[in-house]
Amino acid sequence: MSYIKGVVINKIKGFYYVVSEGHKYECKLRGLLKRRDRKDNCIVGDIVEFGEDGVITAVDKRTNMINRPLVANIDYLVIQFSAIDPQLDYERLNILMLNSYYYNIKPVVVINKVDLITAEEQAEIRYRLEYLKALDVDLFFISTYNNIGIDAIKDYIKDKITAFGGPSGVGKSSILNMVQNTKELEVGETSRKLKRGKHTTTGTTLLPLNNGGFVIDTPGFSSVEHPPVDSAVELISLFPEFTLDSLCRFANCIHINEPDCRVKEAVEAGSISKDRYDFFLRCYEKYKLERWN
Ligand code: GDP
Ligand code: ZN
Repeated sequence: MSYIKGVVINKIKGFYYVVSEGHKYECKLRGLLKRRDRKDNCIVGDIVEFGEDGVITAVDKRTNMINRPLVANIDYLVIQFSAIDPQLDYERLNILMLNSYYYNIKPVVVINKVDLITAEEQAEIRYRLEYLKALDVDLFFISTYNNIGIDAIKDYIKDKITAFGGPSGVGKSSILNMVQNTKELEVGETSRKLKRGKHTTTGTTLLPLNNGGFVIDTPGFSSVEHPPVDSAVELISLFPEFTLDSLCRFANCIHINEPDCRVKEAVEAGSISKDRYDFFLRCYEKYKLERWN
């Protein structure tokens, strides 16, 4: 039997809808892969292998997974805000970044509604988000109204699985409508023979993009809450820019009150953003108060 590899885009009542090379297949999961009482045996986003009988025989190891909604292998979290209306919330942006690193998803920042601001105001936002460069996080200014930057985003998320996060009203639905494919996927050969592929879609779904790749149809899925970080060491690991070549005097330095701390020195020298460091301190205090005992 020959096997096909694809991505699970939707799951309904024991059927898995798998997309491979622009075709959609209705599959079932092999009994051996069904561990009892588990909701995550095979989930949306999984890369799977199935045979001509439509039976999934293997689920690839996941690069990441989120729980609400249950999705695996997300390449990008687009952290979306609008320049104004609603106002850009820098604290919330940092919390979303923290979640992104916690769940091991690469963050990308998108600022929408640039049609409503001046060039100076845009430069001001770019200045305040300068720290993204050190993190290697890309920044896009867009307007879904004036079709500014939309092609650049489309290009960026091509062949990837992308989720959108951010407050409501910033234009997430608007951009999802612009990037997703308008035509239905064709039903694959094997599913046709089996007379399958007819269920209507419900629940969490990956929406195919025109030129390959998917977006998650649940805009703003990502939590506005701080992720469940369990220690100072773990928190530090979610600030990639705190990993420096030169070492602090103490190997277990948490970069707060210790002498000869390279991170604090870098903040003073301006090579680590003061805004980011202050955000780190606020997180530390919050976790200490509410979670770490
Ligand atoms: P969501 O809540 O994030 O999904 O946001 P929506 O896509 O529903 O958009 C919220 C509001 O912002 C709507 O009234 C849109 O028409 C408006 N909007 C979306 N994109 C733009 C834009 O680029 N410029 C302006 N001025 N308004 C926009
Ligand atoms: Zn230190």
